[in-house]
Amino acid sequence: MSVQDNAEASGATAPVDCEQALGKLFEFLDSELPEADGDRIRAHLEYCEPCLAEYDVEEHVRALVRRSCSECAPVELHVRIREHLTVLRTQLT
Ligand SMILES: [Zn+2]
Repeated sequence: MSVQDNAEASGATAPVDCEQALGKLFEFLDSELPEADGDRIRAHLEYCEPCLAEYDVEEHVRALVRRSCSECAPVELHVRIREHLTVLRTQLT
């Protein structure tokens, strides 16, 4: 029996899983998502602590980057910070 159709078809209210939420996190932060998608990510963050933590960290980094450079932050710096966070995260787990 394969009854996956209903779950897939429930459309805009379909909950996203962690992988989807994190996959779209950067777009969400950049406000590049359509409103419906953004709502789903937001809904997921409300009940999923690991993803919310991820979101907090990312927003924190952005705020830091914004504050420390009056000009546009170089992509390189952003990548380096993200790599650093990945290392920190693997050390925590
Ligand atoms: Zn999650």
